[in-house]
Amino acid sequence: MQSLRELYKVGPGPSSSHTMGPQRAAKQFKEAYPNAHHIEVTLHGSLSLTGKGHLTDWIILQTITNIPTTILWDDTELPKHPNGMIFRAFEEDNTMMGEWIVYSVGGGTIVIEGMKDGGSLPEIYELNTLDEIVTYCRTNNLTYLNYIKEVEGNDIIDFLGDIFDHMITNVERGLNTEGVIPGSLKLERIGKRLLLKALESKEEKEIEKLKILAYAYAMSEENASGGMVVTSPTCGAAGVIPAVMYFYYKDREISRDKLVESLAVGGLFGNLIKKNATISGAEGGCQAEVGTACAMAAAAVAYIHGATGKQVEHAAEIAIEHHLGLTCDPVEGYVQIPCIERNGQAALRAIDAAFTAKVVGAIKVNSVSFDTVVRTMKETGDDLKVEYRETALGGLATNYYIKNKLQK
Ligand code: SF4
Repeated sequence: MQSLRELYKVGPGPSSSHTMGPQRAAKQFKEAYPNAHHIEVTLHGSLSLTGKGHLTDWIILQTITNIPTTILWDDTELPKHPNGMIFRAFEEDNTMMGEWIVYSVGGGTIVIEGMKDGGSLPEIYELNTLDEIVTYCRTNNLTYLNYIKEVEGNDIIDFLGDIFDHMITNVERGLNTEGVIPGSLKLERIGKRLLLKALESKEEKEIEKLKILAYAYAMSEENASGGMVVTSPTCGAAGVIPAVMYFYYKDREISRDKLVESLAVGGLFGNLIKKNATISGAEGGCQAEVGTACAMAAAAVAYIHGATGKQVEHAAEIAIEHHLGLTCDPVEGYVQIPCIERNGQAALRAIDAAFTAKVVGAIKVNSVSFDTVVRTMKETGDDLKVEYRETALGGLATNYYIKNKLQK
């Protein structure tokens, strides 16, 4: 597995696969061919089908400003991943100087064909399943957190501290912004209004839920508007973990140090999913994005509450198990419907999953392991029809127009 530095990244929304990955590829390609006369970028598969709504063409052109660049659209998928791109650099007489085939595999991570470590950070974890990690930790008397520090070095905590600060700032910016989210759906931002409702309420449980929803909406609305977010693990799912962090920091007054540690523990579970299944909606549907975010947040919440290693695993397993099969069908290809509301639901569910793991875990042994549910997620994702994998060709993306009698 790669470092947690490759999982949590700061960058512009609305989609890590469609914006951050292409931005990273464009930057590296531009640096590799600084003397190119012109560049051509062909977007394939999901990048072609939903790239306009996700601002893929815009981010590439924003990145390669000094060399004339043309974007071409091709709905066919390249062989190795639904999010494929071909970059070509040319001399003035149209002689090709070089060509890269690049895959944006989720969370802003890219793989450049034929290149060692493919433009992203190298793999530093030798153990790639939770079973292996638990056995190693037991043998060496380590917690998950100690194990992460052993592999990554202690400075991973400083890195995650910065990530935490970004999350808090981003939620706050979202809570202070109103207006319409860019795009043809003309959706209103409502994070701020949800928070006002929470402040008016007298019911403790209602206040809690409204606040968590407000934080998740605020963050996801920022993302949908192209604001700066943290991939956690992706941009589309970037509302879940920040909402939970913000809630425990501001409303439950949990220390920054403890919350930063919980980001490490949650990140370990996200990394395992990234390695053994996928965090890309174009590859595995929304179970891979919001489902993974929910699992990471559930593990983090369990950790915050002082859960045992087994309970932390159980919380992450519950969260992912009950997202299995969740499709990715964004209306018009925008990361708005169902994405924003879905982040809110997953933030609430993460806290419930941690609670369930604690109470049910005290009564019986969990019968489904985390590794088992991740394997199941991978198989389910492989079986999902292409219509439900970030192509906007099925599900809500098509039925929304029928139900609302709108013309597409
Ligand atoms: S439906 Fe889920 S996976 Fe698809 S774009 Fe929205 S958040 Fe991402």
